[in-house]
Amino acid sequence: QLPTVIITGASSGVGLWSAKALANRGWFIVMACRNVDKTHKAAESVGIAKDRYEVIQVDLGSLVSVREFVAKFRATGRSLEAIVVNAAIYTPLLKEPQRSPEGFELTMTTNHLSHFLLVNLLLEDMKKSTYGDRRVVILGTVTHNPDELGGKIPPQPDLGNLEGFEKGFKPPISMANGKKFEPVRAYKESKVCNILTMRELHRRFHESTGITFTSLYPGCVADTPLFRNHYPLFQKLFPLFQKNITKGYVTQELSGERVAAVVADPEYRQSGAYWSWGNRQKKDGKSFVQTVSPQARDDARAEKMWDLSAKLVRLV
Ligand code: NDP
Repeated sequence: QLPTVIITGASSGVGLWSAKALANRGWFIVMACRNVDKTHKAAESVGIAKDRYEVIQVDLGSLVSVREFVAKFRATGRSLEAIVVNAAIYTPLLKEPQRSPEGFELTMTTNHLSHFLLVNLLLEDMKKSTYGDRRVVILGTVTHNPDELGGKIPPQPDLGNLEGFEKGFKPPISMANGKKFEPVRAYKESKVCNILTMRELHRRFHESTGITFTSLYPGCVADTPLFRNHYPLFQKLFPLFQKNITKGYVTQELSGERVAAVVADPEYRQSGAYWSWGNRQKKDGKSFVQTVSPQARDDARAEKMWDLSAKLVRLV
């Protein structure tokens, strides 16, 4: 049997091209997506062979749906060798928070809480696999890190002491730190939580399970649908700015190759690492292990974030 990878949000952008690149490397892809028809069409559009993938429906905006997804995956009888945590929403123009059925703010739910639950549940499946090189890869972003050029544009993420999580994260609370709703900050803070989750997974489970846990910044993939909720003018100018001014731009295809390499290639088997190719793309640029932001490398915060997230998603 081919090794199996679950990729969330594989219906477009980075996730779709990661699916394509991993299929090319001989993997079977479980595309975990909310729109099944759209995902089949997307898989076909990039030429993933029909016998190399399966679509299993999940709405990451709902924790019930995540648990249903895990049951549906288990019913396939497949073993599980890798997970790519990729799906995300970015809604910079929202004035009021949207909510999951549980009442949690939707960006944090989709990008972090759902994935936190998903990976924790599927860890059991990965432990059962006899494959020698199992990995969990979580997408990061440069905008999580104010120490980097790409992360200097305000508002900057601030998880505070996770007071919002502590108080139950339901209305009127919409931010992890319990302060006023800011959609861009919600996105950046969900990505800080993604990196904290990766580091905590590494600390808790790498030694006992042998699973490799990593994150990466694939480069600025400025023309994916991630920016669909931004002003139309931004959507036009952002790719040009990244291509010509910052030189941070990478194609969707290259971003998919990078994710696939971190999932499958021997040189990326370093648990706890955050991989980057830099902010400015150079020809034949090499990847390196990058230091994450001060908030994302704070061990005490990682532990607190883990415990509070586990309560919110009812793992404990
Ligand atoms: P896209 O918008 O192209 O892809 C996001 C994916 O997430 C889509 O497949 C989308 O599904 C899915 N998704 C969104 N909400 C849900 C939900 N409720 N349930 C299930 N699936 C959902 O974005 P990108 O490819 O650009 O982003 C992918 C990842 O890469 C993100 O984690 C992002 O943070 C990261 N990243 C992106 C960068 C960039 O420049 N684009 C840079 C650095 C990191 P649907 O098709 O149904 O909408």
